[in-house]
Amino acid sequence: MTDRIVKVPVSATDHKSRAVLIIYTGGTMGMSYDQYGTLVPYNFEGIANEMPELKSMDVDLTVVSFSDPIDSSNVTIEHWNHLAEIIENNYHRYQGFVVLHGTDTLAYSASALSFMLEGLQKPVIFTGSQLPIGAVRSDARQNLVAAIEIASARENQPVAKEVCVYFDYFLYRGNRCKKVESVHFDAFESENHPPLARVGINIEYNHAALQVTQSAETFKVCRMKSACIALIKLFPGLNQDYFEHILNTPGLQAVVLETYGSGNAPTDHWFSQAINTAMEKEIIFYNVSQCSGGRVIQGRYVTSRHLQESGVISGLDITTEAAITKMLFLFSKYRNNRQISTALATPLRGEMGH
Ligand code: ASP
Repeated sequence: MTDRIVKVPVSATDHKSRAVLIIYTGGTMGMSYDQYGTLVPYNFEGIANEMPELKSMDVDLTVVSFSDPIDSSNVTIEHWNHLAEIIENNYHRYQGFVVLHGTDTLAYSASALSFMLEGLQKPVIFTGSQLPIGAVRSDARQNLVAAIEIASARENQPVAKEVCVYFDYFLYRGNRCKKVESVHFDAFESENHPPLARVGINIEYNHAALQVTQSAETFKVCRMKSACIALIKLFPGLNQDYFEHILNTPGLQAVVLETYGSGNAPTDHWFSQAINTAMEKEIIFYNVSQCSGGRVIQGRYVTSRHLQESGVISGLDITTEAAITKMLFLFSKYRNNRQISTALATPLRGEMGH
């Protein structure tokens, strides 16, 4: 099925100076209640009717809706590729893009797109909401209007030239934030990188925080392929058989190891041995902290020195969401483990500090 495209109507006298493409993937913003009182995605063609105020914005708006909008818990690599393809096909026609996405996996998708959209020079603003747009006290309207404003903002050039997340009055770098709240409106936070903008009466941009190192290349999309990656969160009492079993998964290529504090893990012989055996089979280990603030410093404690000595790569202050999607991206882009390991240790899109 092909995507549905809707033009937000404007009056004949209107001359809008900028054009933004809204891509609706699904999520609570456009959901409605079914006969059981459960929220299910529905088509977002009525956006202009739900929000007549969009017509009075000085932005020419077009909405592309996924043919089959999803709850974002169902997002797959294919959805990311489709999203990237829509942006690629429309890149030169629009000043900016707004992606409407369910909040559950929004941080994964924003991180994934930040890597896939190489040489991006335009704003791609992900947003969503905690309540459907039709709900009286919904956060959807504010989030959508501000996201459109940011996606069309220019100061000679686009103000944001990266993948961002806008939510509840704050703009964040897309690959730096996490969903931290499922009830209140402040659903996202970015502990290790300051907000890129704060929205009040005016939109105050943090220009220093917005600058992201981009490769000099022109815009192109790297399609994501699947890879066999494990995410293992450490906890006291981790079972040896369970740990070894995961590391023996046929075809396993890499492990994101969620460690304690500044990158610490048990020093038990069996634990280090299991990692060393896996590394002999060319499995890559990436050390990411369970703390949402701070960073991995391998060798600071004796409980991380063995990881450093084994060749585990430090993820510094990267989020788990960015670590997983960065790995998928690198396995899609490179064949050689050495290139992948070097890139994992290097900030590519401002996803980690130096
Ligand atoms: N389950 C929903 C989703 O992620 C939640 C939301 O949109 O906030 O699609």
